[in-house]
Amino acid sequence: MSEAPRQIPVARPVLDEREVEAVRRVILSGWVTQGPEVAAFEREFAAFVGAPHACAVSNCTTALHLALRCVGVGVGDEVITVSHSFIATANAIRYCGALPVFVDIEAGGYNMDPDLIEAAITPRTRAILCVHQLGMPCDLRRIVDIGKRHAIPVIEDAACAAGSEILWDGQWQRIGRPHGDIACFSFHPRKVVTTGDGGMLTTASDEYDRKFRLWRQHSMSVPDTVRHGAKQVISEDYREIGYNYRMTDVQAAIGREQLKRLPALVKRRRALASQYTRRLSGVAGLQTPVEPHWARSNWQSYCVTLPGWIDQRQTMQALLNCGISTRRGVMNIHLEEAYAGSDTHRAATSLAQSVAAQQRSVILPFFTQMTGADIARVVEELLSVPAIAEPAALRAV
Ligand SMILES: *Cc1c(COP(=O)(O)O)cnc(C)c1O
Repeated sequence: MSEAPRQIPVARPVLDEREVEAVRRVILSGWVTQGPEVAAFEREFAAFVGAPHACAVSNCTTALHLALRCVGVGVGDEVITVSHSFIATANAIRYCGALPVFVDIEAGGYNMDPDLIEAAITPRTRAILCVHQLGMPCDLRRIVDIGKRHAIPVIEDAACAAGSEILWDGQWQRIGRPHGDIACFSFHPRKVVTTGDGGMLTTASDEYDRKFRLWRQHSMSVPDTVRHGAKQVISEDYREIGYNYRMTDVQAAIGREQLKRLPALVKRRRALASQYTRRLSGVAGLQTPVEPHWARSNWQSYCVTLPGWIDQRQTMQALLNCGISTRRGVMNIHLEEAYAGSDTHRAATSLAQSVAAQQRSVILPFFTQMTGADIARVVEELLSVPAIAEPAALRAV
């Protein structure tokens, strides 16, 4: 009997004894939430992306909430963003009582189309929330210029983009310096580096950073790290409503180990992505991801757009039948029931590209431990899905 083919998952974090050791150190230290490990992780992350400030929080959704509140987004305001994103992008806007205003994505990619932003601006627009979808930098140069021209803050949803780079004034720079006003990162296991759950805000503004630190810990005027070290009794006060958005020291210790790995992870992923692209280029009707000349993705995910004549679901099922897991491409927030009412969002443009991307794109298995043979097998199985060959009728026209 021949052995069943090995299962290939869609993604897998890189975690081993190094993270275990780091967590052990924290547990035995007696200080397990927001303390010295969080402070060290923040310093190291800030240095890694080149940001003046980095503030750790519980996840990227809470980071987005703090970022939006910080630039003044409140009840009745509008925030320009994309529907073609994970639902957290728009939910954070709703948490502020504001309205997500959706613009479409660019043809041939999965990021915001900068050409559509200006027409979506109204007197109520308080921020532009752009997304570096799947780790591919969006066109920040143009988006930041539009923000400047209209005095509208730009927040980067960089959930997927730790380790991605952009060409800026002739220099490769990491996403998160930030190039907009604030960038928000995620350390969920689906991203390139993980702390289980976790998030990070980066900014050049002293004032924003001060607010993040206050709000993430109930707006407590004196953090417990300060009270702990004090020689005199100090009592704290609470001047505004804050949140419990803390990261724990256990998470931060894992994050510090993950950050050390990140450059090597990105290097490996870039090599794997080019293997996929080489093997898939030339397949009629199939679109491989496009990396603009000014962008370097961290390749969090490898997403392809299928030929228009084949069924997304059947293709995914055929791959699953041979042990290969895939996921549908990025969702469309405006199509979810939570966004059904006209009071939940406004579509400033046609969202046709967003909808087409969702219907036709598939995320192929992609993780650092994959081998060249794994990639070859995924491609072979994908290309043997019966309908993938271009129909003769189409070839004739
Ligand atoms: C993962 C993700 C988020 C949410 O991150 P969490 O850390 O899980 O809160 C937000 N935006 C985008 C684009 C994401 O991919």
